Order: sequence, then structure tokens, then C-alpha cells
Amino acid sequence: MMKAFEKKVWLSSPTMHGEELEYITQAYETNWMSTVGENINEAERLACEKVGCKYAVALSCGTAALHLAVKLAGVKPGDTVFCSDMTFAATLNPVVYEGGTPVFIDTEYDTWNMDPMALEKAFELYPQTKVVVMANLYGTPGKMDEITAVCSKHGAVLIEDAAESLGATYKGRQTGNFGTYNAISFNGNKIITGSSGGMLLTDDLQAANKARKWSTQSRENAPWYQHEELGYNYRMSNVVAGVVRGQFPHLEEHIAQKKAIYHRYKEGLKDLPVSMNPYDEKNSKPNFWLSCLLIDKDAMCKQVRGDNEAGYVNEPGKTCPTQILETLAACNAEGRPIWKPMHMQPIFKGNAFVSNCDGAGNVADVGADIFHRGLCLPSDNKMTEAEQDAIIEIIRSCFA
Ligand SMILES: *Cc1c(COP(=O)(O)O)cnc(C)c1O
Repeated sequence: MMKAFEKKVWLSSPTMHGEELEYITQAYETNWMSTVGENINEAERLACEKVGCKYAVALSCGTAALHLAVKLAGVKPGDTVFCSDMTFAATLNPVVYEGGTPVFIDTEYDTWNMDPMALEKAFELYPQTKVVVMANLYGTPGKMDEITAVCSKHGAVLIEDAAESLGATYKGRQTGNFGTYNAISFNGNKIITGSSGGMLLTDDLQAANKARKWSTQSRENAPWYQHEELGYNYRMSNVVAGVVRGQFPHLEEHIAQKKAIYHRYKEGLKDLPVSMNPYDEKNSKPNFWLSCLLIDKDAMCKQVRGDNEAGYVNEPGKTCPTQILETLAACNAEGRPIWKPMHMQPIFKGNAFVSNCDGAGNVADVGADIFHRGLCLPSDNKMTEAEQDAIIEIIRSCFA
């Protein structure tokens, strides 16, 4: 067995720089220990400046931003909503909060995001659908020209979940700026963090004002607590905003570190029967939040996954995500399976799933195939080159 790391190598952990503490301290010393304060205003301004949107509403988390986006898009009980399938559940849970029914759209192999052809097919099957929620997975922009074209053709509102892709661009435009309503996240494992937090981004002033009102308990302009609409307590704390404010100036630095990690993996693993999570090299610049690996079909050993556990049969020259993840864990390094597609989740077993697969090559759907053969590698931007070299050796040993 390989030697274990003394210090755990994380998938993606927070990286602090010092300014965060200054802004937190400022909040404390001025007593703006609240959901109001200068850090919130500044964090919102920095997000608008970076992403190029007109308005940002700072919230308690990215999921809250997606929830308000779904409300703004007008999703009502019984409405079908087309959602990314291979993503984190928070992308679409808010659709269900509002009584909507997610219809899952399969993934394409070029960027591992929503397949525009499957989306087009879904509009043929469910022409009444008016809202699409798509995520840019692992920091890689999807096929935004095609997705936005299909949405406009059918008069549907696009909600972009840019929780994982802050700072990534497609044809020079920042992700989080393609939807009518967009969400970013400052969860602890994201490319920059507030320890928690998120934002709704939009160019629509009225929508931003609505979201701001909903997020602060929907108080009407009256001398007492007056309510005409349902409210939420979703506003970001000024302490959390201090962390976000301190992190923003380091976003590009984090992206550069993640990009270097991605390319070191690519180089170090190039003679193995694997590929990295792909992107459109001509048109997009991912933020490289997580580096992922896809094992070639003929290099896969037998792997069986149930609902809560996995097993595999070791074969010389072959491996599988379960073996690599177990070997990494035994060496004190954190990898993770690909986000298990929503259409494979027990909670959504009654929901429709639309794939563009023709069944060729024994692939029933793309998401299941990437889940079966793929995994997320340790992608922490504090990982040293020596540590990464050791991880590459561990992966290599699994093919022995
Ligand atoms: C993290 C994440 C979210 C949720 O963000 P929180 O701030 O944790 O609520 C939503 N969608 C995706 C794709 C994410 O990775």
C-alpha cells in the first residue's frame, strides 16, 4: 500500500487570506452584527462588478438564491420545470419547494452539462414548460449559446445555477449572467467562500427588489409589521459578508491554482486509459473548481453500486471509481464520486427524464455512464505539487 498523507488532502477546502478577518472585525467593532451593514453592500457590489450583472442580492445560501429565482420565474404547483440531471440536488430542490415538478434533462459528454438536444426534445414532449434550471457543473460552462437559443425559441425563462462556476466564462461572458435569474454560492467548499452564503444575480431591478423584500420577511412599507406576501429569513449576515468581501479579491488567484491542478493531473495521467472532465477549449474558460477523471470503458473493472454501498472486482490493468476512491481514502486523501444523477435518486424516481441517447454503445443515458466511470479528484488549492504527484501515483497504482 502507498504511504498515507500525514495531513489530509481535501477535495476542496476554504482558503483564507487575512482580509476576511479584518472585515469580520470591522463588523464586530462597529456593532453591525446583523443582516445589515457595509460588508453586505460591498459584497453585492463586488459580485456585480465581477459577474457583470446589474443587481446582486446577498442571501444566507445559494439554495435560498435558487428558491427566490424559482419564485421570480413564477413556478406554481403542478408546473413542469426542466432541470439539469447530473448536478447537486440544491439546483432543483427549490422547484419542489414551490410545488413544481422537475423533469430531468440528460447530460452531454462535451462539458458534462445539460444537453441542449435533450432539452429541445423535452420541449416537444412538454411544450407548456416555461422554466429551465441549468447548472454549470464543477466550474465548467455548459453549451450556453445552444441552451439560451432553445430557451428563447420556446419562450422559457432560464435560471442559471452558477454555484460551482463563479469566475468561469463562456465567449468572454461570466457564468451567473446567462439566466434571467442566477444563483452563486459561498458555501465552504466553493471556489471562494463566506463560510456559507449565496447571492441572487439579475439585471431586473424589480426582481432584485422583490427578492430583497422576500428575503427579509416580506415587510410592507408601514409603521408596523404589515404583510401582503409570504416572507423568508434569507438575508446574508454582515459577518459572513465580511468573509465574502475579503475573498473576492482572491478569486482569480484561486482559479489560477485550480487550473494548474487540473493541468498537472492531465499531464500526469495522460498515458493512462482515462480522460479529464472536458470543456470547450475554444469558447470557454472554466474556473476548474474540481478536477475529475473519467475511466475509459474498456479499462473499467466490474463495479456494482447499490443505493448505499459499492463494491468492485479487482482486475489487472483495470480499475473503477470505487477502487480509486477507496485507495485515496486509505491514503488520507479525499475524492468523491460524480454527483449522482437526479433521475437515479430514490426521491425523484417518479419524475420524468429526457435523454438524447440512441442506445448505441450500451449507454442508456449519459449521466449514468459518467456517474459509473467518473470521479472527482482531490482539488484543494493548498495541495502541494509533491502531494499531487503522490495522488497521481496512487491513481496509477490502481491500474496495476
Ligand atoms: C453548492 C451548490 C448549491 C447550493 O449552494 P449552498 O450555498 O450550499 O446552498 C447549488 N447548486 C450547486 C450546483 C452547488 O454545487
